[in-house]
Amino acid sequence: MTDTLADSRTSSRMFLADVPVVVEDVQRRSTTERAGVLADPGFGRHFTDHMFVARYQEGQGWYDARLTRYGPLPMDPGTAALHYAQSIFEGLKAYAQPDGSVATFRPEANAARFIRSAERLAMPPVPEEAFLAAVDALVDADRDWVPTGADQTLYLRPYQLASESFLGVRPAHEYLFLVIASPAGAYFPRGVHPVSVYVSEDYVRAAPGGTGDVKCAGNYAASLRPQQQASELGCDQVVYLDAVERRYIEELGGMNLFFVLGSGSDDGAAELVTPELSGTLLPGITRDSLITVARELGHRVTERKVSLEEWRQGVADGTVTETFACGTAAVITPVGEVKARTGDFTVGDGTPGTLTMRLREALLDIQHGRVADTHGWLHRVS
Ligand SMILES: *Cc1c(COP(=O)(O)O)cnc(C)c1O
Repeated sequence: MTDTLADSRTSSRMFLADVPVVVEDVQRRSTTERAGVLADPGFGRHFTDHMFVARYQEGQGWYDARLTRYGPLPMDPGTAALHYAQSIFEGLKAYAQPDGSVATFRPEANAARFIRSAERLAMPPVPEEAFLAAVDALVDADRDWVPTGADQTLYLRPYQLASESFLGVRPAHEYLFLVIASPAGAYFPRGVHPVSVYVSEDYVRAAPGGTGDVKCAGNYAASLRPQQQASELGCDQVVYLDAVERRYIEELGGMNLFFVLGSGSDDGAAELVTPELSGTLLPGITRDSLITVARELGHRVTERKVSLEEWRQGVADGTVTETFACGTAAVITPVGEVKARTGDFTVGDGTPGTLTMRLREALLDIQHGRVADTHGWLHRVS
């Protein structure tokens, strides 16, 4: 592939009131090449033709917003983000709609969370309208990369990092805000299967007053060793307990958890319980959406503390009939086997629960535009 000397034009789209989005004329991959990727995109392996980049300089604010060719970032070895992890991110998806348009799902919620993450890491926030403009501009430019196969999506990754070259420990004076896009295949191409989980007793994910309630890169770095430990024990994911009492279920490394109490097949009879947002959980947008959808289906939904003992006992005496994890990437993942130092157990009969699957379909139907969007959750991009 050769790089063309980029011709650029100013998009009608504004990043900020005084910062337009400049669109460079980049070399796009051929239809054949793109079709090859979209036939089996996997997750996070392939990227689209463009990326969005804006810069920030203290005293000047955000400037130079542009859609440019996807490719390496020139980076000084002293770049602060590489040393002290002053770096945050978001994850959302664009969905091909039945009428041929493309929509993202609740991007304002991602924008709001991105601002909270920035504030926690002492970074200048990207205003909500600027965040939305950047995501829209990229999806628009690369709309041919939005896959149309069953349950396929274009995964969007906005992120912000301290780009100043400086080794002193203080908030940087220069930042980059980027958005990249990666076509994603169906999370469960061969049908939904429950994951096995390992309850970590050696590690915690988040402590009160820490960074567990924001999406910062460092949280993920710290989750890799526990994840490795889970894999060594044959488990897919890690369940974290609270850092203080080591009793209460918090969440997985990147997904929130729900427990179904009572029979999930009786309409409206089952209750859903999810750990409360105590300050150490990441407030998932999928979690929030499912609370709404479940209530509309007639289910009682309670946000409260759930102990590992309550989970184990509930599974043993039949009170807890289903457990699932949720997040943007997988939507809903049923939890089957649970491994813990205090004894292993299996939720239900090891197959996906009835309510788990019902909620999964209900949310996917909204996201893919197969039912009316009664909440105004879809944001039409192009
Ligand atoms: C991103 C994330 C989630 C899920 O959030 P969604 O908005 O539903 O994608 C859950 N837990 C952690 C730790 C996360 O980083």
